[in-house]
Amino acid sequence: PDPVSRRMRDTKPSASLEAAQLARDLRSQGRRVISLATGEPDFPTPDHIKAACVTALAENRTGYPPVQGIPALREAICQKFHLDNDLDYRASQVIVANGVKQIIFNAMAASLEPGQEVLIPAPGWVSYSEMVRLNGGVPVVLETRWDDNFRLRPEVLEAAITGNTRWLILNNPCNPTGTILTEAEIRALAEVLERHPQVMVLSDDIYEHLRYGSAPYFTIAQTSEAMKARTLTANGVSKAWCMTGWRVGFAAGPQDLIDAMRTYQGQTTGGVMHPAQFGALAALTGSRAFMGPNLEAFRARRALGVQLINETEGLSCHAPDGAFYLFVNCAPLIGATRPDGGTIASDADLTRYFVEEAEVVCVPGAAFGLSPFFRISFACGIEVLEEACLKLRAAVARLT
Ligand code: PLP
Repeated sequence: PDPVSRRMRDTKPSASLEAAQLARDLRSQGRRVISLATGEPDFPTPDHIKAACVTALAENRTGYPPVQGIPALREAICQKFHLDNDLDYRASQVIVANGVKQIIFNAMAASLEPGQEVLIPAPGWVSYSEMVRLNGGVPVVLETRWDDNFRLRPEVLEAAITGNTRWLILNNPCNPTGTILTEAEIRALAEVLERHPQVMVLSDDIYEHLRYGSAPYFTIAQTSEAMKARTLTANGVSKAWCMTGWRVGFAAGPQDLIDAMRTYQGQTTGGVMHPAQFGALAALTGSRAFMGPNLEAFRARRALGVQLINETEGLSCHAPDGAFYLFVNCAPLIGATRPDGGTIASDADLTRYFVEEAEVVCVPGAAFGLSPFFRISFACGIEVLEEACLKLRAAVARLT
């Protein structure tokens, strides 16, 4: 018998994780592959965070953790929302999970009735739509445009809302485009939502601290008390604190929803690895001095990447406002011929060609819901980025 459910047969694996695995597999065959696939800072986790985890281990904090998160961490998260975002929550309204990834999945599991719609701007993170489908919901794409720098417009939102809409997912700064909606743009979206009280908002703010401009950060729960009451604000330590492997994310929102997410988590994974929570506590309460130099490094990589891509005939990209990705337009290369006579018919063909010809791994735009594009992560060393972009350029030059 086929052991796999129809639901899983219909689920796509994460394209970015698959691309990263392809790079690992090729390396294990002895090939010198460069991966620009995953959104993972190359900086190590800061020492004071690692030390807090080691201390927790030495003190035998190795028992089952509280499902919702250790109280001290939830208090620190309340402080973070208060100081960074001017949002006040009780610790009971906060939950800690295995990354923002689990936060979003659990929010969908805890809230969706079969067939309810979830509005997801495209291009957007690879996992949102699969998580919605896995929980019986229907992902609905909100289109944004390259020539509008991928800004979600209120009229596009308004036109997509139905009586069956349950959630809008916002991701600011956005993976893969790096676009940051301004406070005025977010307020305009909130105005639309005021007319549709059945819609909740999931704001995925994981890239909050990776911004290259000077505008203060603004998240939709800040627009009004009424909007805050129907928003789940998700954030975590993976990206800005260089803690992707620790698997700690968190969210704050309406009490009923948080309670349901805790119940779901209690029946599935339980609480997040106990010592990792002490590391996250040290991250949120400790110095952020390391973030400045890290951001400067990202800024230099961003400048170099944008320059090298835009100097490559057939490729172009906007300078992202935040996060650490370039979403590269490759429309002029669709229909081109490879040196071996094959045709580049799609962005997936192009990224396959890049692996074979340039030994550089990127993620096709199709995975993010917009073609023909591909995504480059510049969370790698600047020399690696330069070498990779030059190899891409040479591979593009061999197309006819
Ligand atoms: N949300 C977005 C938009 C992301 O790009 C990522 C990671 O790539 C995540 C969430 C996952 O974050 P975490 O490591 O906290 O699960």
